[in-house]
Amino acid sequence: MKLHFRRVLFKLSGELLGSRQGPVDRGALSFFAQEVATARDAGAQLALVVGGGNIVRGSALQDMPLTAGHTMGMLGTLINGVALREALQVRGIPCILQSSLSCPGVADPVDPWRAREALAQGQVVVFAGGTGNPYVTTDTAAVIRALSVEAQALLKGSKVAGLYEADPLKSQEARPIPRLSHREYLARGLKAMDEAAVAIAGEHNLPIVVFKADETGALLLALKGKVGSLIA
Ligand code: UDP
Repeated sequence: MKLHFRRVLFKLSGELLGSRQGPVDRGALSFFAQEVATARDAGAQLALVVGGGNIVRGSALQDMPLTAGHTMGMLGTLINGVALREALQVRGIPCILQSSLSCPGVADPVDPWRAREALAQGQVVVFAGGTGNPYVTTDTAAVIRALSVEAQALLKGSKVAGLYEADPLKSQEARPIPRLSHREYLARGLKAMDEAAVAIAGEHNLPIVVFKADETGALLLALKGKVGSLIA
């Protein structure tokens, strides 16, 4: 079956990379590397924005001034980026790591033109460091990078199957929302994605698919438009 989206930005939350074994779990890394490999073999061009919630969330740090806390959070995304690049390269997937925090010798600076070139050549691009600015999250970074690399959609990996009218982890009766507009998402005050991120995506007509990413083949199904909730 044909891909619905060919070039996408896959937002991979840090939470999906951690486990009881530790904040950065080799099994999870290897699982997502395989998901990316399957999608790439099907002809997809993939850029990833990696989160950092498995390491540090700035707003959750007690007694830490927010600017420092968020900076630590962004550094956490860089740790995940290094781990993810390794997992992809071990599988033979050509991959570059770009970071909005300058870290020579570890990651290249963010360069949308170079990233687009790499995607067109079949390489995977991993973006780390978030936006490089405190007070936002990697959801906002994901929208900005998706627009910068001219992705057709942002695929937001989640632990649940998509958007719900209430938190499905708290209420079993929460009803799924298959599709809604960016405006409706904001008006309903849903929490799956940051408001700032959805507002920017809406301004630029960037579709967002929220889907359960920790199941085999889910990324490919999201690329085919077969799973998740669509904000468009
Ligand atoms: N962060 C930030 N600016 C950014 C992206 C992230 O300050 O542009 C910080 C923020 O503290 C955030 C943390 O990095 O909580 C980790 O990112 P996020 O919470 O988005 O990770 P995820 O939930 O996707 O794992």
